[in-house]
Amino acid sequence: MHAVHKLHEYRKSISTTTYKSRGQRVVRCPLCQLAKDYCICAISPSNQQVQTSAGFLLLMYDTEVLKPSNTGKLIADLIPDTFAFLWSRTVGNSELLAVINDEQWFPLVVFPQEYASDTRQVFTNKVECPEGKRPLFIMLDGSWREAKKMFRKSPYLDRFPMVSFDASKAIQAITDSVTSNAIGSDLVSTSSQLHNKLSPVGQDSRYTVRKTELEHQFSTAEVAARVLAMHGETNNAQILDLWFDVFNYQYQRSVCQRNKGNVKAMENYQDFIDQNF
Ligand SMILES: [Zn+2]
Repeated sequence: MHAVHKLHEYRKSISTTTYKSRGQRVVRCPLCQLAKDYCICAISPSNQQVQTSAGFLLLMYDTEVLKPSNTGKLIADLIPDTFAFLWSRTVGNSELLAVINDEQWFPLVVFPQEYASDTRQVFTNKVECPEGKRPLFIMLDGSWREAKKMFRKSPYLDRFPMVSFDASKAIQAITDSVTSNAIGSDLVSTSSQLHNKLSPVGQDSRYTVRKTELEHQFSTAEVAARVLAMHGETNNAQILDLWFDVFNYQYQRSVCQRNKGNVKAMENYQDFIDQNF
């Protein structure tokens, strides 16, 4: 069990009513939250020795962690140092404080640049950590409305720099990072073959788990992949993208929606894992 699994259990334990999610009658895997027949835990990247220097801290809005569609858990599947807390206006949580004050970390708030004050440092291209520190990416996990509220009302985060990416350029960046990965790597054959393996990003096929405003259409896991790439961990970014595709596809199968996920998601993910571990 990782941090998001534990937070899920905790949040469920303090609920006075049963959280009513879509397809609430299905029997779910307690970890990935997919219907048991579609469980993806056996192929989780948590089974691999992923090399990373990054950490993530998920601040989750109220019932967000209970939503089966939440993708914050996919980050924790990949990155061992992922912490997850219920958001609160005040920093009453001593465990949260201990993480953000831990000297090994360089905390960064992941949020759109236009919300930054004039004096705030914002990384928009490459994340540069001070010598000897590891980036701790703080993600505000909830609906867009909830994320904005968390950003506004968490004064204890104001002292940290921000990381922001241009959503419109991100889709191109996904393609570029994969292509440049292919050059100089003997793991993959040609970039054109690799392109075929990518999700049909940019079409509505990818962003279908939860409808959000156009500019904020990236799921939490996809945003995490973007900042990992900005930190230079393009391989991990790609695993996370592919893992999200697997989740997205299986999730839609499990709720019997008309499936707009990538039918090759499982195959693409498995190929990449086989090549890299
Ligand atoms: Zn599962």
